[in-house]
Amino acid sequence: MTTIAGNLQQVKERLWRACDGASRGSAEVTLLAVSKTFGPDAVRQAHAAGQTAFGENYVQEGVEKIALVAESLPRAAIEWHCIGPVQSNKTRLVAAQFDWVQSVDRLKIAQRLSEQRPPELPPLNVCLQVNVDGGPNKAGVPPAELPALAEAVAALPRLRLRGLMCIPEPAPDFESQRALFALARAAYDDLHARGHALDTLSMGMSEDLEAAVAAGATMVRVGRAVFGARAPKPVASPAA
Ligand SMILES: *Cc1c(COP(=O)(O)O)cnc(C)c1O
Repeated sequence: MTTIAGNLQQVKERLWRACDGASRGSAEVTLLAVSKTFGPDAVRQAHAAGQTAFGENYVQEGVEKIALVAESLPRAAIEWHCIGPVQSNKTRLVAAQFDWVQSVDRLKIAQRLSEQRPPELPPLNVCLQVNVDGGPNKAGVPPAELPALAEAVAALPRLRLRGLMCIPEPAPDFESQRALFALARAAYDDLHARGHALDTLSMGMSEDLEAAVAAGATMVRVGRAVFGARAPKPVASPAA
């Protein structure tokens, strides 16, 4: 029988082996459990098994789940990450409800998030999404434009720039996966060299977390390997 607790244990063992293989300490890589399309009970089960950081792709679905989970767990028990596209008309919700946003790729969105972050909350943690494989229609900022965006975002008062996130196209084998992740790692190192104090390189999912860890990920975002297969279409709420 597979359970969320059992799946979590297996993912952690994969992470430990990957860290070991890359001569990295297992404490260097955080696991973000991607709970999109799964209900609040799945989040509660994972939390009961020790998982505290959760990622959501769809703002409306995430906000509803945050409220439902908060009925039985203190809000501060869970760190909620928005990892999907953020449209202008959703920035107020995201700024008020999430702890992190990993998918910022435009200054305009960052400015709105900073302006709309409620004063009683700590600054919103932000990663810039970088488009490492250069597809013209993909989300994410091209690596060449990162330094300017990072500088502008770092100056916003109610955001805290933590690092980079990327979602490369699926690649067929370990070495080609690692080569794509290495591009994000190079961009991350470049921002460090420019004086940004970053601590988060978010990359790697259920299929390719080993390659991401080998390339230097500090956070992997894992959905199916923790919660099981998703329904083919997102379970979108009518308002989403
Ligand atoms: C869905 C998703 C994940 C998790 O993907 P799995 O293949 O289920 O592990 C990670 N990151 C983002 C941005 C996602 O949308």
